[in-house]
Amino acid sequence: MERKNLDWGNLGFGYVQTDMRYVSNFKNGQWDDGCLTDQASITINECACVLQYAQTCFEGLKAYTTEDGHIVCFRPDLNAQRMASSCRRLKMPVFPEERFVQAVVETVRANSQWVPPYGSGATLYVRPFMFGSDSIIGVKPANEYQFRVFVTPVGPYFKGGVKPLKLRISDLDRAAPKGTGDVKAGLNYAMSLYNIVDAHEKGYDENVYVDSATRTHIEETGGANIIFVTKDGKLVTPQSSTILPSITRRSLLYVAKEYLGLEVEERPVALSEIDEFVECGLCGTAAVISPVGTIVDHGREIHYAGMGPTIQKLYDTLTGIQMGRLEAPEGWIQVIE
Ligand SMILES: *Cc1c(COP(=O)(O)O)cnc(C)c1O
Repeated sequence: MERKNLDWGNLGFGYVQTDMRYVSNFKNGQWDDGCLTDQASITINECACVLQYAQTCFEGLKAYTTEDGHIVCFRPDLNAQRMASSCRRLKMPVFPEERFVQAVVETVRANSQWVPPYGSGATLYVRPFMFGSDSIIGVKPANEYQFRVFVTPVGPYFKGGVKPLKLRISDLDRAAPKGTGDVKAGLNYAMSLYNIVDAHEKGYDENVYVDSATRTHIEETGGANIIFVTKDGKLVTPQSSTILPSITRRSLLYVAKEYLGLEVEERPVALSEIDEFVECGLCGTAAVISPVGTIVDHGREIHYAGMGPTIQKLYDTLTGIQMGRLEAPEGWIQVIE
């Protein structure tokens, strides 16, 4: 297979239009057969539900080349499940989970020339999404929907070395109790943009959100879950019904327990105890784990080890599983080619 002639080691994290994408339309109560298309642009009515009332959700996962030269993606069945739960919450029709996985596989296969080579650090980011496409002016769900999958090659997350992140405890909220924090809806991102720009302007990489009911417990950042490591090497991650269930975080907890023999705790984490941890990291598909160096809680500054020994081990083990250097748990690796 010929690869596209890209400078794989120097790609950024931006949209690059590739050859093919998958489209399926929902109309008259059912999904059509779906197909691959080279049409990257979408034409919809000005009054489409997605444009007026933000009826849209999305997923994100990666395809990449393993050590032995296969193209694979990581646990797409969990993205299918999570998108189904987002759709139910947003009153959108579920795109059947097996068809979701098949659409991801077909889209990656149709763009196999865009999958970065093993060892480049780059990956093919896969973006399934869905939106209400017909015109709706009274507030109600759309009648017609489009499900799409596109892919875009993205560069190594830690280009030029790992620089530990500096986070701040946010004064604005991300998710209300019984709100939509646990689903991957575009609306959760629209409302975070003001705060992320403000954080960047003030020298922070990300906002850490606390629970909006009591403002006493840690939740997550705008786009990644958070993990902590105690002095005695225990992995702790906040538990709350308003946190987005990260597939990376769930995989890391499993790896910590089953591969590294670490103790793992999923429990509410109080703001007042975060200075008792020695390591902290953000986890999500893009970076797997980004080490955190500092959290600033108004006047209080807490320092962590950055890429400390435990986070390094977790990172090496999960990326080892993903890249085929370590044996994966049953069903984690979907072989595409
Ligand atoms: C997507 C997302 C994550 C990370 O989830 P992964 O499945 O690990 O990529 C974490 N938090 C939020 C708010 C997200 O939208």
